[in-house]
Amino acid sequence: MSLKDNLEAVLERVEKPGRYIGGEWNAVRKEPAGIEARIALVFPDVYEIGMSYLGQKILYDILNRHPSLAAERVFAPWPDLEEGLRSSRLPLFSLESQLPLDRFDILGFSLLYELNYSNILTVLDLGGVSILAADRGEGSPLVLAGGPAAFNPEPVSDIFDAFLIGDGEDAFIEIAERFIALRKSGAKREHILSGLAEIPGVYVPGLYESYFPPGSALLARRPRSGAPARIKKRIKARLGRPSYPEAIVVPDIQAVFDRVTIEVARGCPQRCRFCQATGIYFPFRVMEPALVRRKVRRSLAATGFADVSLSALSISDYPFLEETVTALMDELSGKKISLSLSSLRPKGLSAAVAENILKVRKTGFTLVPEAGTDRLRRVINKELDNQDILEAAATAFGRGWRLLKLYFMIGLPTEKDEDLEGIVHLVEEIIRLGKSVLEAPPRINLSLSSFIPKPHTPFQWLSMEDERTLGEKQRFIRSRLSRFRSVAIKAHPTGSSVLEAVFSRGDRRLGPALVQAWKRGARFDSWKDRFDFSHWEEAFSAERMDYQTYLGLLDKGTVLPWDHIETGIKKAFLLSELEKAIGEERTASCLDSDCGRCRGCDSPLRSPKTPPPAAQRGAARPVSFGRRTDRPLRYEAFYEKRGLARFLSHRDLTNHLQRSLRRAGVEVAHSAGFHPKMLVSYAPALPLGMEAKEECFEFRSFYQFDERALLRRLNRSVRPGIRFLRVRQVGEIESSLNERIKGMVYSLDLKDADVCAALGARKATLGTPDVSDLDFIQNEMVRFIEGHPGSQAAFRLDKNELELYLELPALSRRGLRPQDVVTAVFGLENASVRLTRERLVFGQAGDRPSLLAAD
Ligand code: SF4
Repeated sequence: MSLKDNLEAVLERVEKPGRYIGGEWNAVRKEPAGIEARIALVFPDVYEIGMSYLGQKILYDILNRHPSLAAERVFAPWPDLEEGLRSSRLPLFSLESQLPLDRFDILGFSLLYELNYSNILTVLDLGGVSILAADRGEGSPLVLAGGPAAFNPEPVSDIFDAFLIGDGEDAFIEIAERFIALRKSGAKREHILSGLAEIPGVYVPGLYESYFPPGSALLARRPRSGAPARIKKRIKARLGRPSYPEAIVVPDIQAVFDRVTIEVARGCPQRCRFCQATGIYFPFRVMEPALVRRKVRRSLAATGFADVSLSALSISDYPFLEETVTALMDELSGKKISLSLSSLRPKGLSAAVAENILKVRKTGFTLVPEAGTDRLRRVINKELDNQDILEAAATAFGRGWRLLKLYFMIGLPTEKDEDLEGIVHLVEEIIRLGKSVLEAPPRINLSLSSFIPKPHTPFQWLSMEDERTLGEKQRFIRSRLSRFRSVAIKAHPTGSSVLEAVFSRGDRRLGPALVQAWKRGARFDSWKDRFDFSHWEEAFSAERMDYQTYLGLLDKGTVLPWDHIETGIKKAFLLSELEKAIGEERTASCLDSDCGRCRGCDSPLRSPKTPPPAAQRGAARPVSFGRRTDRPLRYEAFYEKRGLARFLSHRDLTNHLQRSLRRAGVEVAHSAGFHPKMLVSYAPALPLGMEAKEECFEFRSFYQFDERALLRRLNRSVRPGIRFLRVRQVGEIESSLNERIKGMVYSLDLKDADVCAALGARKATLGTPDVSDLDFIQNEMVRFIEGHPGSQAAFRLDKNELELYLELPALSRRGLRPQDVVTAVFGLENASVRLTRERLVFGQAGDRPSLLAAD
């Protein structure tokens, strides 16, 4: 069974087929000529999460700019697709070319989270690639990994041929070019890997051996001959130079972050002692403000998104925040483009920033106190006190925010009962404050996560609290805040935190346990409703392992499993930070201290002291073509939805169409209020999986367009499977689209194999096998319609073409659905994927035209 021919049949049976259809706007599909290495960028979680990850977008852009490389995307299949592929004996494939994984030269996995590890095995296995590096032969792709979790690669070092430690922009190109050169020279797999190990930042685990250092219960690694003893992470010095992705792939189903994201800074100058990101992404680097603005403008035009986010680990530390936000909002608010900022610290919330981000849309306001008391915040070095938090909450309430998101961690080192009480008191104070400003209780979404002693942090040697104690702490906070109905508490499951800790601080012995858990059914462990700790307990016991070994105190004098990976922050500095934590002593951020003299790191870069020139404000650029008018005009656009595009839900399709309008430079009028929306109305929703030959939507605009030019522009702005047929300006006296649509005509191909099979089975069930198919359909349709008096359904059987046409009125949501009619008459399940919506029936007020009745 070939993949391309049979993919649609598999997709018809999965819950969200839009995850797997590809063809999105800006997706790159390169011609094979001249391509010397095909690279699959694999994200081991679902599409919606992977498509929100900036790292993959950056690599996709850089690799596809290279004339000899072609990069395509692969995401972990949800269990329904996994089952569909396995039962149809089809391989997992890339979205761009539907190429099976084993046909790529290099697979590059993004490791963001330890709880995705079981999905890596699913992806490899379904893609026809051996799950263990040792089992891969000469023809197999090289399986590489990078990303934050690669900073302790040991638990998955049996799986990967090589790891890239640190920033991938330059290093991935070096790897691919070296790979091409070595392969051309005829080098064997083993020599290719040794060649890659010479590239700074590349770790090839097969070149190292394991040993128990004195005083350690955990395995460490040392090189065999020739391999570097330590792997120093790669650091990209200049953010956004020479390139930063503008024409990013626009997801066709809603992603977690559906917007343009500009990484204005990498690294974090704060020194929160529990935080792994601070070491992994250090040093702090910023993008020039002029470049930020240029990237925002170009990326919006290239994608059609209506939201922009400026992103950094600690955006408040971006030295040009206020002027950049002000300049951008001058330009964006008129176009109803909203701006959001990631992880704003309370101290970074100036009045100007708050007012600017409120100009278009108001989303929830986030505060991250982490701990409940000032004392515990000194221990973890979170530069924040209760007063700062309350002032920020007051600012938010004063500017009309009603929803506050609060993030706390429990089980932090030295945590006492009063620290947990502190969380409760702080929430109570915030509610009191909210009531006094808003005159109603504010909504609070409270998130509780568990502290995990992560590698490369000052707390890496500490133990993790056990599951029972963490559970008791969660219950304590829940019970104390249960009287507030406006507080919603989301606590991270303690079992998955424990598993995350095990794999964060694990050694090479965890590889076999991972394989065992996967064989027992572990999938999507980061998803609360999929996580089953019993798979893991059984796996550890099968491997005779005590996972508690990885959760206890570690000896400060010994070699740790990840010590051969260097972030650039010195171990002596981490130890001194641990001592300061116990003494409740703060350390200033890199920006507030004398960065060059602290000697905590060996980075060649220093945190920015001298700001580059400030952002210039520029006049807003007109986006729309057409001639401006002083009153809104109405336009009607007809289009078809065919092929794989039929797997887009109504909501995804409307998002796609709205972005197409923006990409085409069509300025659509918006509603007023806090959440302005494009003034667009749509024909009744099409069921998922159904093709349509002539759909319609109507929009309003203050511009007069030439209809042919508009049609051309729209057709240049849509994905494959969507094609505009015609557009017209709607007369002022014509009623609304929904009043004009009187009915819908559907067709069913009676020659379709599934339809024939269902029909035969139904005739047999009813004891009428000898009645001809057409007579049976005729009789059953009549009987069905007579059984639904008032449904106003009509049908026509085309005996020459063997098509059934069915017309249903556009009455209400509770009217008959075409798939229900077909299921009742033919006994065909999932009938929407076999039907086609032929056209909409239009009429003016009072009319009830029927196309089939006229026939
Ligand atoms: S502010 Fe603290 S927690 Fe956040 S990234 Fe920086 S160091 Fe980590």
